[in-house]
Amino acid sequence: MKPKLVVGNWKMNKSFDDAQDLIIDIQDALKDKKLQTEVILCPPFVYMELLTDIAEEEDSQFYAGAQNCSEHESGAYTGEISAEMLASMGVEFCIVGHSERRKYFGEDNHTIAQKINLLLKNDVVPIVCCGEQLEERKNGQHTEVVKKQIEESLFHLKPSEFERVIIAYEPVWAIGTGETATPAQTQEMHAFIRSLIEKKYGTEMAYNTYILYGGSCNAKNAVDLFMQQDVDGGLIGGASLKAADFVSIIEAGETVIKDN
Ligand code: PEP
Repeated sequence: MKPKLVVGNWKMNKSFDDAQDLIIDIQDALKDKKLQTEVILCPPFVYMELLTDIAEEEDSQFYAGAQNCSEHESGAYTGEISAEMLASMGVEFCIVGHSERRKYFGEDNHTIAQKINLLLKNDVVPIVCCGEQLEERKNGQHTEVVKKQIEESLFHLKPSEFERVIIAYEPVWAIGTGETATPAQTQEMHAFIRSLIEKKYGTEMAYNTYILYGGSCNAKNAVDLFMQQDVDGGLIGGASLKAADFVSIIEAGETVIKDN
């Protein structure tokens, strides 16, 4: 098993002071641990510098990530943040294609592909979200939906580009609902995604690609999810907003790796 990766997506939460406290609390809790699990924190843009300042320190246990970027390179796009700006601030990762952006901001696979291209061009690693709606799962369409999302947003990439991408499977019905996909459902979809990668880019790429699970992952269910063979870690929303909960999920990653 590869070491796990745990990503915290804070979404639109926290004041400046609370954000600062959370970063410090996580940093303190992880300080003396020799972690194999990699950790990425994705705060709102306005707090990014709080994070990059710490993330650049030698003993930092986490990397700085963003929650989104513009599909445009630069120019007259009021309010937008470009991939190049993120890179210039030391941001190394960026979530793209989150279901909330698909739903509330009309992002489609084509927009997501443009963002991925710009992130890669600027050496920022895209964390690309995919996942089906509840209706789609009930109708047995979940694998088809995820296949289309992955093919349309990612499979135009050359192998040298694709190898720098992280995928997050996030069933929409599990995000923020408290209803987690079962370990078996998660493993089934992750194995399916890996098989798509294998067909397109070969066995080694399929093995090496990180595929995270997201959707009401918490301190209680993280071990069972992370134990699944094709689950390489988690993208964590609600449970990343409290240091103790988030650190427990990171510890779940450590437990699974030590036991395997
Ligand atoms: C998310 O927003 O990516 C997410 C997984 O949220 P939650 O953990 O709150 O379900």
